[in-house]
Amino acid sequence: MLSDTKLLKDKLYTQLRKLPGKFNYKSSTNFKTAVHRLLHYSVSTEGKYYENLFPNIDSTTSDFPYSWDDATSTSYEGIPYFGKFYSRQKKSTDKSHKGRICAHEITGSELVYNCYDCSVDPTCCMCSYCFNREDHKDHNVSVHNSSGSAICDCGDESSWRVHLNCKANSKVGEYDVLDLPEELRNNIDAVITTAVDFFFSVQVRNILTLPVSRPMFEGSHNAQEIAHHSDTIKNFPDDPDLQFVLIAWNDE
Ligand SMILES: [Zn+2]
Ligand SMILES: [Zn+2]
Ligand SMILES: [Zn+2]
Repeated sequence: MLSDTKLLKDKLYTQLRKLPGKFNYKSSTNFKTAVHRLLHYSVSTEGKYYENLFPNIDSTTSDFPYSWDDATSTSYEGIPYFGKFYSRQKKSTDKSHKGRICAHEITGSELVYNCYDCSVDPTCCMCSYCFNREDHKDHNVSVHNSSGSAICDCGDESSWRVHLNCKANSKVGEYDVLDLPEELRNNIDAVITTAVDFFFSVQVRNILTLPVSRPMFEGSHNAQEIAHHSDTIKNFPDDPDLQFVLIAWNDE
């Protein structure tokens, strides 16, 4: 018998495969709404955990989906707000980030903290919620107003030479992921895994991926063999030594 998690993964994967066809393979606001509705419906375990995920919204009077068909409805075209129940959730003011990188976007009105003794390079920074003075007594610290593009690196072990005692994490948080029901936590994991699997299974057939990465996904084929089998990439340059580089930008 299939586990509930496996069933959820299978259902979501099937819906993700069918969804582009429902929208005639065209991206639109309506399509994006459907993707959001589908992922939120899945992660809520077919609606069972809406109250845990959206505590500020009354799910009985809102436009939450309650079936897979409803979650992938094509009927929200041109209606700016209807269908987007997920956008009405109030943002949490809790700044703690146990178990993950802070990644707070430090906007123009906020302070950016650098400690050149603790960071691995001068681009590593902290937001005012995370910076703990006790950690940096007599250190070479600078503070400046953000130009609007800094992202807090607190919690990223590759950014700091020493363990930092984040100020935001020292407070009792508003939410703790361990407060969520175990089934919901398992299903959050299942939905993210399925969405990433789907992304890779589509992307591996995309001409824009690295030819040298294809063998990692597909086994023994080289770029020319793949080009030979694919109409979409038949104009691929016939040069076995051709090298490609993928640049994935981070916050810089
Ligand atoms: Zn931070
Ligand atoms: Zn922090
Ligand atoms: Zn320091």
